[in-house]
Amino acid sequence: MIKNNPALCLLLGILFLIACSPAGSDTKNKSKDDLKQAEYALAIHGGAGTMSKANLTPETEKSIREALNNALSIGEEILKNGGTAMDAVEQTIIVLENSSHFNAGKGAVFTNAGTNELDASFMDGATRNAGAVGGVTVVKNPIKAARAVMEKSAHVLLTGEGANQFAREQNIEIVDPSYFHTDRRWESLQKAKAREEQTGELFSIDSPFKYGTVGCAALDKSGNLAAGTSTGGMTNKRYNRIGDSPIVGAGIYANNNTCAISSTGHGEFFIRFAVAYDISAMMEYKEMPFQEAADFVINQKLKAEGGSGGIIGVDKYGNVAMPFNTSGMYRGYVKPGEREVLIFR
Ligand code: ASP
Repeated sequence: MIKNNPALCLLLGILFLIACSPAGSDTKNKSKDDLKQAEYALAIHGGAGTMSKANLTPETEKSIREALNNALSIGEEILKNGGTAMDAVEQTIIVLENSSHFNAGKGAVFTNAGTNELDASFMDGATRNAGAVGGVTVVKNPIKAARAVMEKSAHVLLTGEGANQFAREQNIEIVDPSYFHTDRRWESLQKAKAREEQTGELFSIDSPFKYGTVGCAALDKSGNLAAGTSTGGMTNKRYNRIGDSPIVGAGIYANNNTCAISSTGHGEFFIRFAVAYDISAMMEYKEMPFQEAADFVINQKLKAEGGSGGIIGVDKYGNVAMPFNTSGMYRGYVKPGEREVLIFR
């Protein structure tokens, strides 16, 4: 009967071709846009929080945008010239760590004891190797120490004095702890302490003490993904508190099969909800597009539990997602012929 019916034959042929096409399964649930390949892509954040035009002077806003743009330019130059995602992430984060605008490196916030304890992480999407440091006090650029932990140690996470010592042994630049003192962050600590005395509240996203962690995710021309995160943690933290930033799966994740992510926000929630890994897992197991998975975790799952913050990331196709559930997030991205720096919604 099939032999005598050319139309049926054609229909069956088409159905057979669709079923056998390798793209048939890979494109499940994906729009054409999601599959678009960018030659390279890089996304950054400088923290999420309560940001309004009212509490940001035009001069400060201009200077923050400049810092974000400088960071994007450094990263883009590396990727454009065929450099690795890992180098782009590290160099981009160093620019942000060296700016006093952000809560990482130079601009790190103060602990309750009036010290600065910095956390950072680094992850390679090709191998899923990772390195991180927690509570370092003398390392000028904690992101360098995190990468060194990944590449030069048998461990994933080093903390406190041991992490300082490891950085010294790796000839990573060491500074006096006073390097991290900025008047602005010192004042924030005094305000946070006063607020704690009045309300008993340790941290609050609704307060003017916004976060400010920095992060970067990149896709290079070879198709490798990498991510990094660096922070001073939360103002007024005690007891050597460590947040999500150096925790793989929470403050960072990178997997060449899915995406690279850096998080910022209330770290305790990001750890409990394994935010960065959760997004990657939905892409891996449910074949969800990056934007959809990231939006779901940040704007539904996390938000419903009172977890504030956001993520930035790049997927294996070069798509960028930057969802957040706070009023603002310093963020930006570059791809060939495209660049954007944003603060508010
Ligand atoms: N996530 C960081 C922490 O909890 C804070 C931030 O993102 O600004 O330590």
